[in-house]
Amino acid sequence: MKIIRAKSAGFCFGVERAIGIARKCTDCGRNKVYTDGPLIHNRQMMERLEEEGILEIGDYQSSNELKSELSSKKADDVLVVRAHGVSPERREYLKNLGLTFKDATCPDVGRIAGAIKIHAQKGYTIIIMGDPKHPEVIGLLGYASGKGYVVKNNEDIDALPKIEGDICLVSQSTMFPDDYQAIADYLKKRFPNLEVIDTICGATKERQKDVTVLAKQGAQAIIVIGGRHSANTVKLAIMAKRTGLPCFHIETLAELNLNEIKKFDVVGVTAGASTPEFLIDEVCNALNKI
Ligand code: SF4
Repeated sequence: MKIIRAKSAGFCFGVERAIGIARKCTDCGRNKVYTDGPLIHNRQMMERLEEEGILEIGDYQSSNELKSELSSKKADDVLVVRAHGVSPERREYLKNLGLTFKDATCPDVGRIAGAIKIHAQKGYTIIIMGDPKHPEVIGLLGYASGKGYVVKNNEDIDALPKIEGDICLVSQSTMFPDDYQAIADYLKKRFPNLEVIDTICGATKERQKDVTVLAKQGAQAIIVIGGRHSANTVKLAIMAKRTGLPCFHIETLAELNLNEIKKFDVVGVTAGASTPEFLIDEVCNALNKI
């Protein structure tokens, strides 16, 4: 069997950076490091980080009270903000917990937050295209000064109230560019003065493009490795299905039906931006033995 591994498979720079910040904060195991919700959306990597003293507390959407979970905290313990970022209110809350505060928000998410904040200060109404339950979107909405809406599809746009004045559209960092353009076009019919900012991150675009490259290179099936909570991994799996090839979205090798995979001579492998190298290697090594 020939295996084609996508060039961009695995950690993006935002995830690498967040893990690097959290690891540095442990000071070689001397400090406890807490993350408000998962630092990245990969369960297996979070389990490894836990062994290094990087502990997830709170909840997926960064909304829970943390004080009871931190009752035995020490002065050197550190609270790290996850790669997806948090709202300004949550940031203030975390800063006041009495721990050292470190921000591992991905700079690309920070840029979206900055664009929202500046436009909101100028009086714009902000529309965010994305998943309203995703922590990145929840955090971003907090920068809209109460004048923000989240839309996923045209029905959500139809349900928007009448909006006076300037309007600005941004997206969650992991959207499909085509879908974003379609949403922008539909919104413009209702709000011709809409200002559209391209906020899909470079890592997402690169990974999505590389899935189509796998198909062009002759892959007969595509394996996508990564967490089911990971927005960019889920998008890669959708992208792989759009190529028309059989797609296998797995979190780990244990989920892969090797008998099914044996039917193909050429298999493409890609992985989400939060999928660690060891999980990709595990799958590729198993395929190499076929
Ligand atoms: S996928 Fe993009 S926005 Fe998200 S952490 Fe990676 S680089 Fe940052």
